Amino acid sequence: MVTEELFMCGIVGFVGHHQAAPILLSALSKLEYRGYDSSGVAVRDGEKPAEVVKATGKLINLSQKIDGGNALPGSCGIGHTRWATHGEPSATNAHPHVSGNCSGSGSGPVESAVVGVHNGIIENYQELKDKLLKHDYRFYSNTDTEVVIKLIDYYYNKYNMGPIDAINRTLVRVRGTYALEVMFKDYPDEIYVARKDAPIIIGTSGGESYIASDVPAILSYTRQVYYIDNLELARIQAGEVHFYDLNGDEVVKEAAQIEFSAEAAEKNGYEHFMMKEIHEQPRVVRDTLHSAVKEGRLELSVPDELLSEVEQIYVVACGSAYHAGMVGQYVIERLSGVQVRTELASEFRYRKMKLNEKGLVIVISQSGETADSLAALRIAKEKGLKTLAIVNVIGSSIAREADYVMYTVAGPEISVATTKAY
Ligand code: GLU
Repeated sequence: MVTEELFMCGIVGFVGHHQAAPILLSALSKLEYRGYDSSGVAVRDGEKPAEVVKATGKLINLSQKIDGGNALPGSCGIGHTRWATHGEPSATNAHPHVSGNCSGSGSGPVESAVVGVHNGIIENYQELKDKLLKHDYRFYSNTDTEVVIKLIDYYYNKYNMGPIDAINRTLVRVRGTYALEVMFKDYPDEIYVARKDAPIIIGTSGGESYIASDVPAILSYTRQVYYIDNLELARIQAGEVHFYDLNGDEVVKEAAQIEFSAEAAEKNGYEHFMMKEIHEQPRVVRDTLHSAVKEGRLELSVPDELLSEVEQIYVVACGSAYHAGMVGQYVIERLSGVQVRTELASEFRYRKMKLNEKGLVIVISQSGETADSLAALRIAKEKGLKTLAIVNVIGSSIAREADYVMYTVAGPEISVATTKAY
């Protein structure tokens, strides 16, 4: 069974003799259960530049834009469903991303040298972005992904090296988790993938090749798959796959035969999603801490000056987020010495209580859209209190309206009972 702890959206790819776009759409639809906020594909027709199309919301929006795939000819392509971690959900931030400068939502034919998609988080993206800005790269999105794609391009051009070396150089510089899938303009009918702590598999059948985050996406096309290890990469052509290590040396791999059903694969072998997501918790805690700890120091989004003046903290939430707040209350009191009250958002919004004007209101919500919590946040702001949102969904209403925001980086939760976000 697949062993990765996985979260976040999906990657698919195809190179063969059939039309790529319908296969990409069908494979993406099998990954919908993972949760996503937008999607996109890039398809190449022989030597022609890649054509990129992206859409926000459901996959059907993307499918309609490309007439179920018919409007996008070509037999080599990559696709992505995104769960935003850096930059709000939007057509511009949706993947694929390109190495060139591009305007608008980044859709259309792209002359860029490198086009790619990514699952995961690039922790040191800001540092890499600063470096690339000095080398005259310009960024159209707010994603960490665009930075990796441009870094690959940078090494590809700077050393005039092939795709394998350019990707390897990039991997050495990047900290974080990733499954990466890229196409190079100079290498038609080839797709390159690399991974670290995020899943990606490759399948072959009948002289064609398939790539996906997860087995169910390609199970209707092939049951013969290759697992790629951490810090390895692969060059994929129609029906042919070659693997390489970080030195660029070729690694020989045997394909495995998938025996289990698509349904079992979706849950990673666990009986249900709740169990699977419980097992993702260590990974989520790690990612959340990584996103908040900079050089050994916890960096809160709230300025130190404000924290030193706060006389009272109100934690406001509903349901399981309220329970998380109750636990948080003891921790915050012990660490800060500031008095904390945890309030149900529905009570907070309707009861007439006197609020300390030097208070900080912390609103917790997985979705960032919980109606009572949003209303409570607005009341707190009206009364002149500062607000901090702790939410999972980037760009959600509570995240946008609060003065400060911290993200839990928990990835999508399919299980109704909260696990990772808690
Ligand atoms: N960090 C990337 C982004 O925010 C990829 C997110 C994902 O895994 O979908 O665009």
